[in-house]
Amino acid sequence: MSRRQAVRGWLQKLTGFGLTSLLLAEGQAAFGRIKTVVIDPGHGGDDGGATEGRVFEKHLNFDVSRRLEIQLQRRGYRTILTRTRDEFISLSQRSNVANKVRDSVFVSIHFNSARRTSAYGIETFYYSYDGYQLASRVHSAVCRKLRPEDRGVKKGSYSVLRHTKTPAILVEGGFLTNSKERERCLQPWYRQALAESIAVGIDVYAGDAANGRL
Ligand SMILES: [Zn+2]
Repeated sequence: MSRRQAVRGWLQKLTGFGLTSLLLAEGQAAFGRIKTVVIDPGHGGDDGGATEGRVFEKHLNFDVSRRLEIQLQRRGYRTILTRTRDEFISLSQRSNVANKVRDSVFVSIHFNSARRTSAYGIETFYYSYDGYQLASRVHSAVCRKLRPEDRGVKKGSYSVLRHTKTPAILVEGGFLTNSKERERCLQPWYRQALAESIAVGIDVYAGDAANGRL
């Protein structure tokens, strides 16, 4: 090996190492290890959300949120609920809670409604790039488990997504305006499966974030 080759090899090693450690450092700075999940049960209090007969979206959102909380705690995450009872919380208050927590992600739980009662299925919204990374993992875990009509991962300009600085998503767990899907949403097994699969998706995201795979 000539002296020039030796120097080149040494330089490659050095720059290769330099790049790797730089990327790792960036990954860690941007994502770190997700320790906390801020769960946001949509609506509450006077704001019932989508309402069909005696079915109030706010109650279903809260039920799924509590189930999700249990699933996440079992996996070792700290959880914070933006509301712990049936009360009105403004959208900015919800984002403010999330923005105060380091190393966290934000998951808003909703059920859908549409004027066209034939509309059904599950869709997951994001706003930022980090939100998209989280949304795609959660959405695919949910679709694997529940095999719903897959309405996809979509960019949505929701206030809670725009104003939350941490990776933030909004899950629409089914249409209450569709009689068949409403029946499903009212079944505890469905809400349990929804919560479990959301937790799986969050866990996949956290693992990928920690390992620089985003
Ligand atoms: Zn809603």
